[in-house]
Amino acid sequence: MSGEPREAVNCLDVVLKIAERCNLACPYCYYFYQENDLYKSSPALISEDTVREVARFLRRGAQELNIQHLFIGLHGGEPLLMPKKRFESLCRVFREELSDVTNVRLAMQTNGTRVDKEWVSILAEHQVSAGVSLDGPPHIHNAARPDHKGKGSYDATVRGLRLLQEGVRAGTNRATGILCVANPNYSGEEVVKHFVEDLGIDNFNILLPREGYDSDIWKPQSKWIDYFTEILKYWQSTPKTFGRLVTIQLISDIMRGMASEPNARQMDMRRSARHHIITISGDGKLGMDDNIMALDKALFDANINVRNTTLAQFMASPRWQQLVQAIDKAPEKCASCEWYRSCRSGELFNRYKKGAGFDQPSVFCETLDTLHTAVAAIVARWENGVERLTGVLSQQPAFWARDFMHPVPLGQAPRSASEANSIQLPVVE
Ligand code: SF4
Repeated sequence: MSGEPREAVNCLDVVLKIAERCNLACPYCYYFYQENDLYKSSPALISEDTVREVARFLRRGAQELNIQHLFIGLHGGEPLLMPKKRFESLCRVFREELSDVTNVRLAMQTNGTRVDKEWVSILAEHQVSAGVSLDGPPHIHNAARPDHKGKGSYDATVRGLRLLQEGVRAGTNRATGILCVANPNYSGEEVVKHFVEDLGIDNFNILLPREGYDSDIWKPQSKWIDYFTEILKYWQSTPKTFGRLVTIQLISDIMRGMASEPNARQMDMRRSARHHIITISGDGKLGMDDNIMALDKALFDANINVRNTTLAQFMASPRWQQLVQAIDKAPEKCASCEWYRSCRSGELFNRYKKGAGFDQPSVFCETLDTLHTAVAAIVARWENGVERLTGVLSQQPAFWARDFMHPVPLGQAPRSASEANSIQLPVVE
């Protein structure tokens, strides 16, 4: 592995659980149905005292670690279960407490069902961008995202989405993102066609399930490859039907990264910083990205919270350093893979195996290989495409996870798993 420490843009994503209950009961929900049962001991809604404690914790963390960009994602459960006045007060607290020390962005991930005009105005007023979870046309979405009585949520979600889109078109609201969880039991083409042609959405993401080697959901890879091959084919046809390539982030990111060295460096930066997600529960418990910690109880310690530790101390902990190691050390198969720079072994949660950690390629390796091969073939057809590709893919990544937000001075940061495991998590006196 090469790479001297470089200056990095310090950024942190915070997943803040403001309402740990949900009006839907989606069977695949990692938060309620995987290993982690954080929600069981958490209050239904975050209290105003905890909001202030979290804001103070983040303020100190931003100062100590020189965090330049703080992205606070208001999550649940369903965050719009929070009463409107309390939601507004929460937004004010974060802006007041943090705006003079870092660049704060507020965002929210919602199932969209509770969005009304008043919510759209509140989100506009507090400049909160919204992401809506939508899994495809009615029969797909309703099967994946029913309420507690088994009734599908498609109509309510799309009604909410339309209201948010009106706010974006009127220039009052920030962009609305769409997240769709991939499901190879349906047609990939049908899903993306619905987004683009029926709903007029030209920018969305298709998420791989938040599962690792302890699940079978990724088997067989052939059905995932078929699903994404359909999506790729449709994506390539969008200039004809839509006037330009729509953005499906999973694919567009790879294409941009392969297209030029500056793009590849930007992608290196984001992929090196992707462990930079902390989760804070409604009563202040602190953990890593909840997509990851839901995979194994061993990845979470219920005794760590924003009142008894600092962000810098949390990032010196063995669990955090394990993530840093996982990003910087390519599993054996990935180290010799031609797509390593643009793939970086896939998502961390797709690499996890109980007892073995993250030292495996993504469970979706074959699917990722197919995606990268197809995207590379597109780029290769561009002018000087082969030279561009060869140049980008033959370089080592320009950024490493260990270079971001060092809780200890550069040079003293742990470099091996055994060193990392020997670090004890200090607790604030
Ligand atoms: S395609 Fe597979 S082997 Fe190659 S870098 Fe990605 S996960 Fe690793």
